[in-house]
Amino acid sequence: MNFRRVVQGFCLVLFLALLAGAGHLAASDLFLRLDPSLVGVTALSARVLKWIFIPALIVLVSAVFLGRAFCGYICPMGTTIDLSDRCLKKRGTKAQNGPEWLSPHLNLYLLIFLAGAGLFGVSLIFWLTPLGLITRLYGLLVYPVIELTADFGLAAIYPIADRLDIRSLMFAEIEPSRFAAQFFVLVIFILIFAAGKITPRFWCRYLCPAGGMLALAAKRPLIRRQVSDACNQCGICARNCPMGAIGIDDPSKTDHSACITCQKCSKLCPQDAIEFSLSAPLNTHAAANSPISPSRRQFLLAGAAGMGTAAISLTGLTAATDKYTEGEVRAARLIRPPGALPEASFLSACVRCGECMTACPTNTLQPIWFDAGFIGMFSPAIIPRRKYCDPRCTVCGEVCPTGAIRALSSGERVWAKTGTAVIYRQKCLAWEHKKSCMVCDEVCPYDAVEFEKKPELPYPVPHVKEDRCAGCGYCEHYCPVQNDAAIVVTPMDELRLKTGSYRETGKIRGYKMNLRPASDPLLPKTYPQGENAATPDADSDGPAPGFEPL
Ligand code: SF4
Repeated sequence: MNFRRVVQGFCLVLFLALLAGAGHLAASDLFLRLDPSLVGVTALSARVLKWIFIPALIVLVSAVFLGRAFCGYICPMGTTIDLSDRCLKKRGTKAQNGPEWLSPHLNLYLLIFLAGAGLFGVSLIFWLTPLGLITRLYGLLVYPVIELTADFGLAAIYPIADRLDIRSLMFAEIEPSRFAAQFFVLVIFILIFAAGKITPRFWCRYLCPAGGMLALAAKRPLIRRQVSDACNQCGICARNCPMGAIGIDDPSKTDHSACITCQKCSKLCPQDAIEFSLSAPLNTHAAANSPISPSRRQFLLAGAAGMGTAAISLTGLTAATDKYTEGEVRAARLIRPPGALPEASFLSACVRCGECMTACPTNTLQPIWFDAGFIGMFSPAIIPRRKYCDPRCTVCGEVCPTGAIRALSSGERVWAKTGTAVIYRQKCLAWEHKKSCMVCDEVCPYDAVEFEKKPELPYPVPHVKEDRCAGCGYCEHYCPVQNDAAIVVTPMDELRLKTGSYRETGKIRGYKMNLRPASDPLLPKTYPQGENAATPDADSDGPAPGFEPL
């Protein structure tokens, strides 16, 4: 059994299990924290250094000793690309060297570009971070497809279950998650996988910024490829190296910063001339297939391009600021998850990995397109019409790898106001159509809707008590008016704190957040999430874990 395949398989399964268990398992974001490019660029753009970034530092330091073994053995993106390359490879074809017009240092330039944008506080790492991309692929696309298939499967066996009277199957239901931008994720990955037709691991070789970062640390790894005198220069190793790390003209030369220590070359060598050993002589170290060497000028240009892109992004009309300024155009309905940092800090820290969206139990968290401008693409927002945000749920903050959403205690969570509901009277059944409807009052967990009898109207009409409304979206979700609801959540008066207590700040602002008991029979059946779901004490629940300073 191939040792590398076993390790790769184990790491992929572990990654998938942690992702599937996001919100239930501790350290579900472990793999995201291993990505040095994600962590490094986020530390730059969000101007934070946290102990949770240590795993990525360990991966970076490991490259000094083991070369890019992380890429060859652990990275789930690399493993997935290996699988797709295997499927795409025609029987008998050899691995090819990359196109000559493409610089083997492209990933380094991209890394510098992203770091340049990060210096301006703009995080663009989400376009290329390997662990962020692969989390999006499995979390937002593959898992929902599996859920949908399981749902179809249940529907298919329903007649049998009915006939055999197997009630557990008759009433079993799966509600598949759905995400906006799923097709975009699909197209990105079709392109990534198709690039494997040009050369194996194309994405890892040319586009991966984490690979670029590890390449810098792995210039002279302690354990490296060594070729003995038995080599007859047949070149089979160079032709089959998936990373193009072996010299075509002289297969004894190795570009260690490209080598992922997969050891394919040593297995293929008919002369047994290749081994990976500790401190092999450095005369084997040379840029193998690198006709273009990175120059300081190219690095500077890449960094300047990143800063320029960031500057242009920040001039956008929908650019993120923590204050509304005169003339600013901002999406009226952009509701961020509870505990999200103030908008500018949130966008600098959010890597769009989709972990929060995958873990969200109601599937209300969705990736957005341009509602927050170019720099806000694919960041998470609550879509209340799709589903409400349970005020007792703290999952998104628990799984967020960068702290873009703060982890809140259940009591603090009650005070994390995401917005305020507004009633469109011209659509409301009670106000406009003179019908009896009290749905928003019945479903509101905060008891923030009150009804008042007006002499000119036959039935009581609703008002929102703004100091009690937390913007959870129950009212908007359940409003019986078709298409757009008659009561909608807006980000008005949202409470977004970088540090400090939501409870204390909310009280200072005059909010009166309190939850109705889960046993209240008027609350919708979806609310109690299990018979014993407790109602958090909004006034005290011990120390709040999310309140260490950034
Ligand atoms: S907010 Fe969501 S998408 Fe952004 S970094 Fe945190 S978990 Fe990932």
